[in-house]
Formats: sequence, structure tokens, C-alpha cells
Amino acid sequence: MSDHDFVSGSKPIGIERGDGPYLYSTDGTAYVDAGASFACTPLGHSHPAVVDAVQEQVGRLTFVDSSFPVQSREDAYAAFVASTPEGLESAWFCNSGTEANEAALKFARSATGDSTIVAATRAFHGRTMGALAATWKDTYKKPFEPLAGDVEFVPYGDSEELTAAVDDETAAVILEPIQGEGGINVPPTGYLETARELTEEADAALVFDEVQTGMGRTGSMWACQNVGVTPDILTTAKGLGNGLPVGGVAVRDWIADGAGSHNATFSGGPVVTAAVHATISTLVEEEWPAHAAGMGDYLAGELEATLGDEVREVRGEGLLVGIELKRGANRVARDLAMNHQVLALPAGRTVLRLLPPLVIDREEADQLVDALGAVVAPETDAETES
Ligand SMILES: *Cc1c(COP(=O)(O)O)cnc(C)c1O
Repeated sequence: MSDHDFVSGSKPIGIERGDGPYLYSTDGTAYVDAGASFACTPLGHSHPAVVDAVQEQVGRLTFVDSSFPVQSREDAYAAFVASTPEGLESAWFCNSGTEANEAALKFARSATGDSTIVAATRAFHGRTMGALAATWKDTYKKPFEPLAGDVEFVPYGDSEELTAAVDDETAAVILEPIQGEGGINVPPTGYLETARELTEEADAALVFDEVQTGMGRTGSMWACQNVGVTPDILTTAKGLGNGLPVGGVAVRDWIADGAGSHNATFSGGPVVTAAVHATISTLVEEEWPAHAAGMGDYLAGELEATLGDEVREVRGEGLLVGIELKRGANRVARDLAMNHQVLALPAGRTVLRLLPPLVIDREEADQLVDALGAVVAPETDAETES
């Protein structure tokens, strides 16, 4: 089947509880969660600020629909919008990353009056009919075709091909500022700037899918802030509620004005927005994005020193790290989990992805490096130990 058997299939480890960067199995073994459970726990598992906010909210008011103003939603809204680049002034909460992208594509069509979407090779935007249409991998798409949407794919990172693809019919260009699932691909300098210029000239919407890159992981709250490019629509989910199911879409005024009618029953529910507010406030107040930048540099340096020629490349930004292996990533992920109590994720056939909680310290980073050394470069490891 797919190369995701190991991550989406059943892992033979029953998880009982989580604490910071660790997951504990039913037999009491501690695992370093270097996948942060798909980047969903930037503050680590069961962070007290989030747990307290959620517990307090679920007891007071579990749900009321979004037509009623509720403090937790207003707090989350203000914190989310304030965390995004200037120019993104309104937001909408949903339930997942897929749903955030689905909304983004709808908003772009309605605000521009156009319908064509330009997306990138190796992109992953989700699995509903519209988001899936903008996703690259055939194995995800083929059985479900025809999908919704007129999508043109261009090679990720190629400014010339992007320039050739964007025209007056383009409703949106949708890009991950760094591709996650597609293999932790960092675009060349100037690529996102080019996407910005092209969409502006064509009156199209620039959509940045920050479902995986967002929430401080790359050293800024949002990866687009690292390059100073502000999209028209920014989508996110995964870490937004530190494990609670919630997505968000932040937009410029011209998108909000032309967004048309779109909503969802659970949009901005009190419990998930309590989690959003607690997560964003803690990340910002305690400056975890800056910590992620420093720890990312440290981790990448140690990985390069330890793995050396045994891997093709270590790449990424902050604590969004991809290791291009010389062999299959699934086997390496399995070995790390079963024999070294480290949980990492494959991103494609030969790339191992590390997305640890932003709160890891040097000791935990060293634990990751040691485990990887033992699995990927066992001889190098033996030499340093003797
Ligand atoms: C995970 C992911 C999605 C889909 O998010 P879900 O919450 O699983 O629907 C979309 N885009 C990117 C970049 C992702 O990493």
C-alpha cells in the first residue's frame, strides 16, 4: 500500500498519556514524540495552560453556535489575527487543515470571480474534494476522480514555471511556504516573493498553507514572516489548539469583503477556541518561536555532525527538519520507534521528518540525535562512544 502504512496504520505501541515532548505507553515506556503527533502539539503534550483553559471552558460552556459572541472565541480571534502578519485583519475558525484550505479556495474564487487554482508538485493541502484537487500525490487522488476544481500544477520552487502559469483566469496560487508532507522542501530565495508579485498583478489570491509550518515551528509564528511575504489568505490547523481539532483562516479585507457565504456548525466553538487562545498566548508570551529557531539550528548542526555522509541532506527551518536518507524512511522510523523510543515521521519515501514540540531542550535534542546516529550511522556512533 502507501508509504504511509507505518504512520497511518496501527503502531504496536498503546499510548496512555503525554507530558511535554514525551508520550508514555501503557507499559510505562517513555517515547520522545519527535513527530509532535503530526505537529499538533507545539507546546508539548497536555500543556497545563491549555489543559486548564479547556477544562475550565468545557465545564462552563461546552458549545454554543458562532452566531452568539463568546469570550473564548473573541480572545482566540484577537490572538490569532494579532499573531499573523499585518494586512491579515479577519479570520474564520474551522475544524481542520483540510477545511481551512477548502474555505481558502472558495474565498479566492468568490473574491476574484475566477476559478483556476495554481498549486505545486508535491503539495499536500488535504483530502476533501477541493483540497485534494490541489494536492499532488496521485495515490491520494486517483480513486476519487473527478475532483472539484480546475488545478494547474507547477514544479515547486520554480519561479519561471509559476510565472508562466499565473494569468487573468487565476483565482489563487496555493503554496506551503515550506512543503511538509512533500519532503520538507524549502523553496529558493525569492520564490515566495515572486508568487506575491504575480498574484498581485493578476488580481489573484495568494494562499499560504501554514497548517504544518505555522505556530512558531520555523522560528517565527508563521513561516511567511521569515521572508516578509504576506499572503491574501493564510490557513492553519495542526498545532493551532495544541491538540484540539481546530483550523483557522486569516484573510485580507478584500477577501473578507468578497468571501461569500461560508460557515460550519462547529466553527469557533468555545472549547477549541479556549485551546487556541491559551496556545497562541503561551507561544507568544514565552517566546517559543525564538526557542524553536535556536533549537532548530542546534539540532541541524548536531544531526549533520553525527549522521555525516550517511545521509544526503539535513534541511528545513527551525524545528521543521527533514533528513534525506539514503534508504527508506519507513524502516528507519520503525527502528527508531521500536528500538530507540523515538517517534519520527516519514515525509515521502526517503525523507524522515522531525517536528518535535517547540519546548524540547538540548538534552532531548541530543536524545534524538543519538537515536538517529544509532539507526542511520551506527559505525559513526560506535566511534564516538569508544
Ligand atoms: C496536515 C496538513 C493539511 C491537512 O490538515 P488536516 O487537519 O489533516 O485536515 C493541509 N495542509 C498541510 C500543509 C498539512 O500539513
